[in-house]
Amino acid sequence: MVEAVRTVVVRSEQLPRRTFRIFVELEGMYRNVVEQLVLYAVNSGITKFTRLKAERYRGVRSLYPQLPSHYAYTACQDAAERAHSFLRLRRMGRARKAYPEVRGVSIWLDDHLWRVEGLTSISMATHRGRVRVSVELNKHFLRYVNRGWRLATEAKVKLDRRERRLILYLTFKKEVSEYRPKGYITVDVNENAEAVLIDGVVYLLETDLSRITLGYYYRKKRVQERYDRVYGPGSRPERKIFKSLRGNERALKREIRQKLAALIVREAARRQAAIVLERLGKEPAKGMIERIKDPQLRHRVYQAAFKGMQRAIEEKAREYGVPVIYVDPRNTSKVCPIHGAEIVYGKDRRGTCSRGGETWHRDVAACYNLLLRALGGDGGSAPSRVRAFVAVDGGPVPLGPTAAHEPIRISRSLWARWRSLGAINKHEQ
Ligand SMILES: [Zn+2]
Repeated sequence: MVEAVRTVVVRSEQLPRRTFRIFVELEGMYRNVVEQLVLYAVNSGITKFTRLKAERYRGVRSLYPQLPSHYAYTACQDAAERAHSFLRLRRMGRARKAYPEVRGVSIWLDDHLWRVEGLTSISMATHRGRVRVSVELNKHFLRYVNRGWRLATEAKVKLDRRERRLILYLTFKKEVSEYRPKGYITVDVNENAEAVLIDGVVYLLETDLSRITLGYYYRKKRVQERYDRVYGPGSRPERKIFKSLRGNERALKREIRQKLAALIVREAARRQAAIVLERLGKEPAKGMIERIKDPQLRHRVYQAAFKGMQRAIEEKAREYGVPVIYVDPRNTSKVCPIHGAEIVYGKDRRGTCSRGGETWHRDVAACYNLLLRALGGDGGSAPSRVRAFVAVDGGPVPLGPTAAHEPIRISRSLWARWRSLGAINKHEQ
């Protein structure tokens, strides 16, 4: 058994000015304490919380006697950690300043400094006594509660000054049996679809993500032209309509990504499989979107369809404790997974292996190559389990050497209503 730890962010409701001021004061004192402690720790080369506490606890307490005593503990922990990472940077010659700056502060809390009161509020110890704060419960939080995670006593809190809210970083813990993947689900992220290899079948789940990006792009362009003519550039009505279009686009894409990610991750969790993804670069260099000339637009397509999709899968996978493996994506669709020879493509996404002569769909080839790379080989050195499945040199081929290796194409309107891919059998002809 291993202990899994997850952080969930929860926001408080907007606080009355008077209440919020208490937290601003508290943060000010906490920051001062941490700054002094960090200075002391760096000067004396202390990186251990216990030693820092032993030497400085009294000093901190006398600095702000009104501050609940446990803040002296958590500030020591906070400062020791800051000093530790700063001293390490300095040893590597990478510290830019003589002392670490204490800029962003989140107040560290322990079991004495906060507690949950019911499901929708917490109370925090402050220099003005305990203050009760209502929190907005989100889906994320409830999901962890309902799946049997327990809330840890350590937490952090940040102040959102603009909105007068507290942002709470809560920690959930759970004992989980170690996840030893029994298999792999490979995902080849495409512009308008995800190719997913599960149990020897490649599903092509359509997302239309790049089509949506392009559609909104042209719609906005048309709006801009029309409004610029009537109201002049950058007018208020134009900005308003832009804002609503942007909001719609974002919401639609997010929904698609999250639903599809959930579908894939649930399949992986059920099989106790790991998910294999391509390691994406920083630049939108994917061959298939090079045809988009506008660099900004290309970037947006890349962000939504590739990066955004991967991130959604990663996030979902974390929630379910499913491991994600990244592999080198180079040439995954160009080489035959069986023979290692080049696949010669015609006009559509189908090609012929230059050695075996069998037909490959581009996405099917990519998925199998990702699987082979995850297993640590490019065919020849693949472990026997996969070799039995994707045999090298003339043995059994996934669908037989003469069949086209076609994916099962599933439209978005269809998969979006499923909870699992098991539904495929009912819909297949
Ligand atoms: Zn081949």
